[in-house]
Amino acid sequence: MLVSSKPKLDAYQPVDGLACLFLDFNSYFASVEQHDRPELIGRPVIVTPLQSEHTGAIAASYEAKAYGITRGTKVCDARELYPDIAIMPARHDRYVQIHKLLMAEIERHIPLKKIYSIDEAAFRLSRSERNPALAIETARRIKKGIAENIGPALRASIGLAPSGLLAKLAAERVKPDGLTVLELKDLPHKLADMPLTDIPGVGSGVAARLAAAGITTFTALWNLQPKQARAVWGSVMGERFWYGLHGYDVHEEPTKKSMIGHSRVLTRGHEMPDQARIVARALLLKAASRLRHYKMHAGGLSLSVRLRPEGRWEGARRFSYSQDSFCFLKELDDLWEAFLCNRRREGAMPRIGGVTVYLHRLAEADDVKMQQGDLFAEVGNSVEDQNRGRLWRLIDQINADPKDKFRKLGRNAPLAPYRKHVGLASQSGLDLNYLGAKIAFSRVPEEAEFLY
Ligand SMILES: [Mg+2]
Repeated sequence: MLVSSKPKLDAYQPVDGLACLFLDFNSYFASVEQHDRPELIGRPVIVTPLQSEHTGAIAASYEAKAYGITRGTKVCDARELYPDIAIMPARHDRYVQIHKLLMAEIERHIPLKKIYSIDEAAFRLSRSERNPALAIETARRIKKGIAENIGPALRASIGLAPSGLLAKLAAERVKPDGLTVLELKDLPHKLADMPLTDIPGVGSGVAARLAAAGITTFTALWNLQPKQARAVWGSVMGERFWYGLHGYDVHEEPTKKSMIGHSRVLTRGHEMPDQARIVARALLLKAASRLRHYKMHAGGLSLSVRLRPEGRWEGARRFSYSQDSFCFLKELDDLWEAFLCNRRREGAMPRIGGVTVYLHRLAEADDVKMQQGDLFAEVGNSVEDQNRGRLWRLIDQINADPKDKFRKLGRNAPLAPYRKHVGLASQSGLDLNYLGAKIAFSRVPEEAEFLY
């Protein structure tokens, strides 16, 4: 999970013509499975995060969608809808590999503007190719390049428009394999039927405030003034949204990490508090490895526990900047105790449906060291903390040793005892490889992350 820090409002550039090409891969994870196993092309396929009949699919091929099977459909329900469905366990490292190949292929044609997620990215069209005929020709060349140089299973919907936001809305119009042009002269009528909550930037909170202001259709949204948008959103983000919607090229700042975390839906074996706590600790250890991989320190930790059948408990702690997993685990244990106390007060101990753990208040090691004042005083406030940070960096190195050819084996694989792995004895009952890496759709993980 990665949440971007809020962008600053910059000077906006009015755009002439189709400056942006937005590309959204269709049923991406399922398409990669079809790409790697051509016998699956044209067949209903789902991708699952766990080997369980009760887990929900995280992707469904278009052939599966034709049978009413979508993301979120449980494996057992999918089997009922289409008994012969191919059920593929997720291979996130492979999806990242193919993502990189795809981006490299597209960049042979046009420059990258911004990657939004593993299956969505925006590209820039040069001034000379911003008219519809040439922009469409470029888009067709990209589709052909992907089909011929990567593989025909990887189809994408492309939107061409003056701004990134409009190009994304255009790409949404036709799936799979779409190619849609949206010019300013087409607006607002061409999007008149679009539900407001389908628009990126209009969450349920904003939609409710828009409705309170009498704005419930795309046309009404279009007719807002920038200042009104700012008032509805309650921040400069509203004005920024308005400019994007009206075809201005809104400059986007590079994404900065402000949180690193992981989340798991718990299966039956892990839903009691003791087991769930072990999963939460494993997620935290994984997040801490990534933190050190990015050469960052964290000064905060949050825990969110989803309860069954319903409800949620959340808590957060703030502490001195650290890279030490022992320090983070102690904070997590304190949070867990607070959660248990709260549940005891409420009565019966419920079952736990999922846990989310994330590190926040992130600071880069060098920044932190160079800064004066509070931050400086907080960092490595004990030699012991610094030494433990160093110890954990060494452990990361051993666990991610690229020369270890057994490194990617699950703990139950026959040759797994040969794998170099340093972990905590208290965690040895749990195989994170079995739990698998769960991708947040808002970011593209690095391949190195899958080694932890
Ligand atoms: Mg997609």
